[in-house]
Amino acid sequence: MNAAVLETYGAPLQQRKVPVPQPGPGQILIKLKACGVCHSDVHIWKGYVRPPSDPSPFIPGHEGVGTVVAIGPHVTGWNIGAGAGVPWLHDTCRHCDECNDGMESFCQNQRAHGLNVPGAFAEYVVADAAYAVPLPDHLDPVALAPIMCAGVTAYGAVKRSALRAGETCAIFGCGGLGLYAVQIAARLGAHVIAIDRDAAKLELARSYGAATTLLADGMFAETLSTEPYRSHVCINFAPTVATWAPMIAAIRPRGRIVAAALVSDPVPVSQEWLTATGVVITGTSVGTRKEMQEVVDLHAAKPLENDIVAITLGGVSGALHDLNQGKAAGRFVITY
Ligand SMILES: [Zn+2]
Ligand SMILES: [Zn+2]
Repeated sequence: MNAAVLETYGAPLQQRKVPVPQPGPGQILIKLKACGVCHSDVHIWKGYVRPPSDPSPFIPGHEGVGTVVAIGPHVTGWNIGAGAGVPWLHDTCRHCDECNDGMESFCQNQRAHGLNVPGAFAEYVVADAAYAVPLPDHLDPVALAPIMCAGVTAYGAVKRSALRAGETCAIFGCGGLGLYAVQIAARLGAHVIAIDRDAAKLELARSYGAATTLLADGMFAETLSTEPYRSHVCINFAPTVATWAPMIAAIRPRGRIVAAALVSDPVPVSQEWLTATGVVITGTSVGTRKEMQEVVDLHAAKPLENDIVAITLGGVSGALHDLNQGKAAGRFVITY
């Protein structure tokens, strides 16, 4: 099969012919139709995130959509020809508190496609039958692929925020994830405020259901502290600590702040402010299998939109490069 293989961190992925993998016990083989390119793939490509041992071959990709073409021993619930998604979570430990509570996305012994095991920048991929995503086959695979990571991460963040209809929800960062979150929060009946440095993204956010948009210029924290902008929920998809002061300005007493972007620097939060406001601060990481099913159902009922740029497998290194430079014109999706 054709695959894009990571041989040297930061160097272009190599287009290689590699053997089609075979499903072992509890696994299924999926022939891919599409795979999204995620910002996490850039972190992996650059070597900022490294597995304890490299998968062989090291094929990135964790937003795959395809069809089951072979089934390993001891698999139930899957048929040849069924639509299947290849998400970030290849599997988890299955016995920690998080796994037992149905919150397996927080399992500390998880393995990811395209990081710990071969991923979906290839014509075929092996997935764990218990973690692959059952998909209706009438949906457009290109629109569906980014749901496997970006969509479920946005959905999981909104769920973590316990957002209710009628509440105000400020969404910081309107890239692929933020734009999904705008739609999910708006469909819940929330008043959505979309915030970004890029006016074109705010335009999209408005067309996707944001009631209010705010350009993140020098004064926007001050604006957010005024009444029409005070929010019950703030969700941060912008990979910077610079959003914390504006989030703290915007959040109402007893509000919920959800950190969805990966930021390793410490964030400026006063414990005195926390005691006085009762604000809840939490984090989120992709989503659970239950949340995945819910967001796929939401997408099936009415497609969640995003600005998608279709590419070929040969174009994936260019896409990673553009994402790394912040020059991506939209969400890249490989079609096979
Ligand atoms: Zn991802
Ligand atoms: Zn676990």
